[in-house]
Amino acid sequence: MAKAASESAKFDLVVRHGTLVIPGMGRVNADIGIAGGRIAALGDNLSGPADEVLDARGKVVLPGLVDPHVHIGNQLSFEEEAHTETRAAVLGGVTTIAIFLRRLEDSYLDHLPRFQKAIEERSFVDAAFHLQIFTEGQLADIPRCAEEHGVRSFKFYMSGIPNIVPSIKDDFLYEGFHKVAALGPGAIACVHCENGCLIDHAREDLKRRKPEGTLADWEEAHPAEAEALAIQTAAYLAGRAGAHLYVVHLSSAEGLEAVRAARRAGAKFTVETTSPYLGLTSEDSNGFLCKMIPPIRSPRNREALWEGVCDGSIELIGSDNTSRTLASKQPEKGLHCSRPGLPVLGTHLPVLLHFGHNLRGVPLELLVERACRKPAEIYGIYPRKGTIAVGSDADLVVVDLDAERVVDAAYLQGMSDFSPFQGKRLRGWPVATIKGGRVVARDGRIVGKPSGRYLPRYPARPAEKSGARKQEPARV
Ligand SMILES: [Zn+2]
Repeated sequence: MAKAASESAKFDLVVRHGTLVIPGMGRVNADIGIAGGRIAALGDNLSGPADEVLDARGKVVLPGLVDPHVHIGNQLSFEEEAHTETRAAVLGGVTTIAIFLRRLEDSYLDHLPRFQKAIEERSFVDAAFHLQIFTEGQLADIPRCAEEHGVRSFKFYMSGIPNIVPSIKDDFLYEGFHKVAALGPGAIACVHCENGCLIDHAREDLKRRKPEGTLADWEEAHPAEAEALAIQTAAYLAGRAGAHLYVVHLSSAEGLEAVRAARRAGAKFTVETTSPYLGLTSEDSNGFLCKMIPPIRSPRNREALWEGVCDGSIELIGSDNTSRTLASKQPEKGLHCSRPGLPVLGTHLPVLLHFGHNLRGVPLELLVERACRKPAEIYGIYPRKGTIAVGSDADLVVVDLDAERVVDAAYLQGMSDFSPFQGKRLRGWPVATIKGGRVVARDGRIVGKPSGRYLPRYPARPAEKSGARKQEPARV
């Protein structure tokens, strides 16, 4: 590879002798020269002086993962979890997250400055925001949230989660699609696709039939037909409104079939699944530690989802991290009363490496496409994030593909005292994470400081080119 910098370039950090996995390009043996927080050069034996050298011989170097689906602040405060959960993220090789903010009633306009401040002061990773929309007032605020705060993705729950979030009705969803479409290119409507009527009925029916039960029974409370039906509804309404639909956390083979059928009929939309669905099944020995909505399903669903990841039906992989401790998860309360939500930021990459690359032979090139480049592209932060290229932010993860470790919560260093993967031996772990040009995690220890930045997203406008733009916050 040709050098992209002069011999005399001075680097803050050089990552030497690694095998880079570059989305769209494949594996490249090259050094990475970093200056000012960005990648300044890629090439063989970069020879300029460097303040620090990281030897990645025998390791692969991936772009830092971009996790498009994270919940922060559901148990502790947003401020606290912005620190604890991003510590787990960066140790696990995730350097950018997109957070689903949640206010059930208030205007987000009153809270966005506080959330941004928490990221800038306390987070180890960079963060973009999605807003979860529940009220007419929040719908009405969408244009201002986009214009004033650079938020361009909004989430709608077709089926809510009892005692956590309410469901919305289809007319509200349709209105939401119109609001998002009106923002123009790059605006996204994220939808939790499950049909609320089917779920409500199935949940009550399961309570009657199986007051006690196992994790395997939980799938019956959230039948796959409810996911498949909701995908059809959402794809139809989004198409009519001209909105970019993004299906979050696809969980079932039937849902995947609905995705394929809708696309064959001409619908255009984006589909995400999550690393827990690709790693766990409802037969897991950790039982209700794995309780989730939508459910972790039977093994045939996990295989279908991997097939969808590999054939491109599923374009992105997130984590759907929700911080919980055992005290709030309450697995002892059983099938109906233990709580959903999985702390999984720290295992996101190891799970993809183990269950994807090691056990199923999924190429690393495909995993970085699904977990790095595509999330960055869809959410408008590519190529600053999601790749290894000159000019991109120097967010990188150095991985030892042969490292084996038994998952335990203490090692992961989030706020949780359990992992749904606990006790599992996974192969393929990060040995160093570089965020913004600095080594921030190494050999399972945090060695750097929080350096998170909020990532506002604005559409590129023609006026930008002529320099005739009004003063606005910094662009991504
Ligand atoms: Zn979620």
